[in-house]
Amino acid sequence: MNVHDKYKPLTFWERTYLPRIWDGLVLTMRHFFFNLWHFFLASIGVQREWKGAVTYQYPEVRRPIWPRLRTLHRLTKREDGTPRCVACMMCETVCPAKCIYIVAGERPEKQIEKYPLQFDIDLGKCVFCGYCVEACPEDAIRMDTGILEFAAYGRNGMLLTKEMLLSFVPKKEHYTARPDLEARPAPAPRLSEA
Ligand code: SF4
Ligand code: SF4
Repeated sequence: MNVHDKYKPLTFWERTYLPRIWDGLVLTMRHFFFNLWHFFLASIGVQREWKGAVTYQYPEVRRPIWPRLRTLHRLTKREDGTPRCVACMMCETVCPAKCIYIVAGERPEKQIEKYPLQFDIDLGKCVFCGYCVEACPEDAIRMDTGILEFAAYGRNGMLLTKEMLLSFVPKKEHYTARPDLEARPAPAPRLSEA
């Protein structure tokens, strides 16, 4: 549509929406009969390669998803099982939906100063943009769990806590190793402690 068209007053027929409804019905019926014809020819042995529309028998059969698709978040762990997150707040700051809430605590060892005491993501607000993953300097948050189904009876049920985020595991085929971060040696002690 021309950008200027939206300023033009609607005609009588456009205001009734009937032409657009008619267009929609024609399009739907065209697809319906197209698929019906293909299924018919395939079922009687003619043109077997014509499959028509493909329907997945969800939830028994799930549609394969692209490995780079952003799925439910998880927090990654260090080798000792502690969260890789250093509570730098980068993800919380960059999140356009303001749905990440972090409370920082101090770690006992001084090489890594902070860790998240609390790390919540409100999925009810999240727009799955992936900015949090992009912004994280520690590869501490990822969206590679492959989990797409999450429903709750109330808004509180959509809150992901730190414990839940840490308990999720990556979906094998979605996992991309980050040797640059995973093989990184532990930080050297500070001069004052050496
Ligand atoms: S995916 Fe986007 S909206 Fe969701 S928590 Fe991350 S930054 Fe926020
Ligand atoms: S997940 Fe990453 S960006 Fe967010 S606070 Fe932790 S270290 Fe910083």
